[in-house]
Amino acid sequence: MKHLSSLNKYFWKYRWHFMLGFVFIVLTNYFRILSPQLTGYVVNTVVHSISASPAGTSQAEIRKGEKNYDYLVQQIIAGFEEKPENKILYAGLTLLILAIISGFFMFLMRQTIIVMSRHIEYDQKNEIFNHYQQLDSGFYKTHSTGDLMNRISEDVSRVRMYTGPALMYFINLAAVIGFSIFFMLKASPKLTLVALSPLPVLAIAIYFVNTIINKKSERIQSLLSNLTTNAQESYSGIRVIKSFVQEKAMLGFFKQNSEAYRDNALSLARTEAIYFPSMALLIGLSTLITIMVGALDVVRGVPGANVGQIAEFVMYIQMLTFPVSAIGWTASMTQRAATSQRRINEFLLTEPAIKNEPSPEKPELQGNISLTNVHFTYPHTGIQALKDFSLQVRKGEKVAVVGRTGSGKSTLAQLLLHMYEPQQGLVSFDGIPVNRIDLQSLRNQISYVPQDVFLFSETISNNIRFGMNEATEDDIKKAAIQASIHKEITQFAEGYQTLVGERGVTLSGGQKQRISIARALVKDPRIVIFDDCLSAVDARTEKEIIGNLYQYLNDKTAIIITHRIFSLFEFDTIVVIDEGRIVEQGTHAELIGQKGYYADMYARQQEQERESPSA
Ligand code: ADP
Ligand code: MG
Repeated sequence: MKHLSSLNKYFWKYRWHFMLGFVFIVLTNYFRILSPQLTGYVVNTVVHSISASPAGTSQAEIRKGEKNYDYLVQQIIAGFEEKPENKILYAGLTLLILAIISGFFMFLMRQTIIVMSRHIEYDQKNEIFNHYQQLDSGFYKTHSTGDLMNRISEDVSRVRMYTGPALMYFINLAAVIGFSIFFMLKASPKLTLVALSPLPVLAIAIYFVNTIINKKSERIQSLLSNLTTNAQESYSGIRVIKSFVQEKAMLGFFKQNSEAYRDNALSLARTEAIYFPSMALLIGLSTLITIMVGALDVVRGVPGANVGQIAEFVMYIQMLTFPVSAIGWTASMTQRAATSQRRINEFLLTEPAIKNEPSPEKPELQGNISLTNVHFTYPHTGIQALKDFSLQVRKGEKVAVVGRTGSGKSTLAQLLLHMYEPQQGLVSFDGIPVNRIDLQSLRNQISYVPQDVFLFSETISNNIRFGMNEATEDDIKKAAIQASIHKEITQFAEGYQTLVGERGVTLSGGQKQRISIARALVKDPRIVIFDDCLSAVDARTEKEIIGNLYQYLNDKTAIIITHRIFSLFEFDTIVVIDEGRIVEQGTHAELIGQKGYYADMYARQQEQERESPSA
């Protein structure tokens, strides 16, 4: 439960909603509680008009009983005319008015409490989303997207059930119990005891049954999520399934999941089927004994006992039924909300491993980059990706980084962007250690094309513009031309306004890569890092892009990670990495002379190009 206390800041923020809601709940119930008393009054009036001397109590005693009614009720009935017909008519009208007033306050109570819970939900989602964005790459590697999504949607909804309905029902319950028991005790302590005797049993029974129902619903929820994942994977993987002729196997798998879901749902339905009749039985029991005990008292002429009072009590029991049966529901909602809030807090309390120092520098980067004796191990896998890595890049230099897959090239790019922190050694820009530099400022001044392209479900134009709101259509077009993708874009019916992604056009790997390059080119900073971003582009287009890049990179510092050697491009240094270390370093001519890994790689590439001259 202590986890829910982190919601207090929101209750404080919306304290006026909360307090007004509280007042409205009390008023709703106050106007409702008056109707049993008026009804009792009407019944007594009727009983007296049919027989001059009814069994049990005399007229005078009934008058005395009316003193127990609420002050407002006493005022109202004092104003009625003496004729029984008129009394009944006026009482009926008053009952209607009371119901309308009470309904009006009920409307206001939902308007305040439920609205408050929606505000809290909104704030909470934003808080979580904002925090997610601060968290580092390491965090995202260790938590699944599904889990992150669940906490921001499902768990927040569950917390809302607590800040909204559960809270409202709880206050409502307290108000109903308070008012009705107060007036019941005033009217007849004995009958109160009789009427309330089954209620504790009811509350406890409801709580237990609710716990069972909740456990079953949770299980059903998780089975349903399995089923959805199962179905979703089958649809996205439909081509693989069909080409491997696995439709039957997939159906079998789906059926199995589906069956588990059905069986659990049936078991829940059984529990619920028992639940409602047993509740009705207990409430019926309470009504029954109240009528019996009350009627016996009237017949025996016990002082104060009268028929109207029985009617009044039966109505109190009716009014108590719903709030009491909601106790179990409220309790289990609160429990669930606490569990969800614990899950939410777990992430909110996760400090990003990489964040700004208290007063970071925001230097204008010139483009001098240095790595000195850097050691880096991926924290959760223990894979040592860079070992004693040193590299100096001067302003305006173009550096190529080559090496096998898994040699540590992308890791190098990640460290330069300060996505991770090396365990040893120093990464610095213009002599300023990277952890002294403001994260946003650093990343803003580097154009980075990641190895795996990600495009948003947006127009091509917006995908290229991403984050550069001031970029004009001309800038975008220019970048697309440089990335050799402009021609293909204009061939789409909607050109730059073509939608990308699930519901949009399907792009080839190479097209996506080039859009991703254009996105980096729109940005025009001094430092450029390209991570193997031409791997899916054919050799001819690659040459074209390289040619364009030559002008673009002119005075920029560039680190270009590649698996292919661009002999046309004159790099100041080429670095060959293997197993996290630099194994060769020099210009193209120097490395060819060394006859090492680079020379080998170049020879192989030349051979391939001879075999397929079109490239
Ligand atoms: P390259 O880009 O040269 O193919 P990487 O820098 O991606 O190589 O990977 C270097 C090593 O680090 C590999 O052994 C790879 O498995 C590992 N590695 C890469 N990224 C991660 C990660 N996010 N978490 C754990 N290990 C990683
Ligand atoms: Mg890589």
